[in-house]
Amino acid sequence: MGKPTGFKEIARELPKDKPSLERLKDWAEFHLYMPEDKLRAQGSRCMDCGIPFCHTGTLLAGMAQGCPVNNLIPEWNDLVFRGLWHEALGRLHKTNNFPEFTGRVCPAPCEGSCVLGINEPPVTIKNIECAIIDKGFEEGWVPAEPPGKRTGKKVAVVGSGPAGLACAAQLNRAGHTVTCFERADRIGGLLMYGIPNPKLDKKVVQRRVDLLAKEGVKFITNTEVGKNYPAGKLLKEFDAAVLCGGATKPRDLPIEGRSLKGIHFAMEFLHANTKSLLDGKKNGSFVSAEGKHVIIIGGGDTGTDCAATSMRHKCKSLIQLEIMDKPPLERAPDNPWPQWPKVYKLDYGQEEAAEVFGADPRQYLVTAKKFAGDSNGRVKEIQIVNVEWRKDDKGRFVPREVAGSEKSFRADLVLLAMGFLGPEETVLKGLGVEQDERSNVKAEYGKFATSVRGVFAAGDMRRGQSLVVWAINEGRGAARAVDEYLMGATDLP
Ligand SMILES: Cc1cc2nc3c(=O)[nH]c(=O)nc-3n(C[C@H](O)[C@H](O)[C@H](O)COP(=O)(O)OP(=O)(O)OC[C@H]3O[C@@H](n4cnc5c(N)ncnc54)[C@H](O)[C@@H]3O)c2cc1C
Ligand code: SF4
Repeated sequence: MGKPTGFKEIARELPKDKPSLERLKDWAEFHLYMPEDKLRAQGSRCMDCGIPFCHTGTLLAGMAQGCPVNNLIPEWNDLVFRGLWHEALGRLHKTNNFPEFTGRVCPAPCEGSCVLGINEPPVTIKNIECAIIDKGFEEGWVPAEPPGKRTGKKVAVVGSGPAGLACAAQLNRAGHTVTCFERADRIGGLLMYGIPNPKLDKKVVQRRVDLLAKEGVKFITNTEVGKNYPAGKLLKEFDAAVLCGGATKPRDLPIEGRSLKGIHFAMEFLHANTKSLLDGKKNGSFVSAEGKHVIIIGGGDTGTDCAATSMRHKCKSLIQLEIMDKPPLERAPDNPWPQWPKVYKLDYGQEEAAEVFGADPRQYLVTAKKFAGDSNGRVKEIQIVNVEWRKDDKGRFVPREVAGSEKSFRADLVLLAMGFLGPEETVLKGLGVEQDERSNVKAEYGKFATSVRGVFAAGDMRRGQSLVVWAINEGRGAARAVDEYLMGATDLP
């Protein structure tokens, strides 16, 4: 801790974002950069706590508290304050294979549990993380580092999201020969085809994929294990396999009119949009929001990404429906520090919609009742109703419709962003691995072994739809488990 009084003297400051109206003109990242002196000053706000809650990474009240990859936050805050960027980068890479992803898209549970956050705005941990790794790449401090020797063991990783990539990176580092299978045409999972470019530039994803390839990881795209590559072949051709296929089965809304044209799952919309950007042309699956009245059902992060994408398409109007109540502006008494703060946030998509249409597009405590269509079978209207949350006879809170509160909105495009139900099952059935009651792969956290010997699972496929940082944590953990399975012991962190 280089400056004991930093937290008293310096106020929290983040770099500005590009103004909404300007950033809507393109698909570029919208966070601007902070000059080095300001970043160093922000690093000096860290108190180097005796118990740094920022780095603990546990679940509290069902949510992440502290950094799930246990980043050595106080250490690199201090190194940044002292201008020792190269050393800070070394500390950062010790715990996190991909800080350029988490530094951009992590909701930062570290900041939610930063001790300074008890009575002051927390340290800007996420921004400092991003600055360290961006500088590392700029300075050429992130070279390919292939392993010194190979073990002769072969491992298959199924799925190339953050869990698969972290697992592949660690296993390759241990000297195993890793092949990563991906059914999409590009590597990266939801980093590539879920999170939109303005939040995470796809060049940033590709840069890391290229580095891993240089280090020796073999990537095979357009190959779905269990479909065009038989699942049974995995354990014949490889010594172990790690399933990192994500939890991509979307929750549907089986109400009247669901089969009308113009109603899509969020991921159909987002995937096709990013693919068209990267391919430089729109293909048959591209869904345009241009000039349309757009309704997004679901108020979470996926819905936010749909809002931001629709705004860049120049939609005519935008409404985002949320069944839950509007969160409070400040922590509620039952949501104390160091829990993840469940507070109202105007995220980038809503901020942009508010700038253009005059208000946050979210409507709270509402649910969709039915869709109506035109004579061509296209959706033209949605009927919604207000809900209130009441306890049922088992004491659980359930939504109840408020009689007489129905209303309708014009709808030319409806995007269903109501979360995900678990993993797709082709590869799981093909291998015969057991699933738990939520349909995720059954594999104990920390061991990551499935019911089939030699087959491991990590990331959303094991824990359900979660966060990039948890996927990295699990990918690293599964790599450790596989290394130990193959070699009898492991030195992997
Ligand atoms: C729209 C959206 C936005 C999000 N935004 C954020 C955010 O801002 N911050 C954050 O922390 N988290 C965010 N998340 C969550 C985060 O992206 C996921 O938790 C994370 O990507 C999970 O990583 P994963 O590696 O387990 O799976 P995924 O990233 O889902 O990757 C799984 C990959 O496996 C492939 N696959 C599946 N089955 C097979 C098979 N049989 N053969 C070959 N390949 C297969 C899939 O095609 C996919 O590419 C978002 C999620 C969505 C949907
Ligand atoms: S909890 Fe906050 S102030 Fe304390 S060490 Fe972590 S970042 Fe620094």
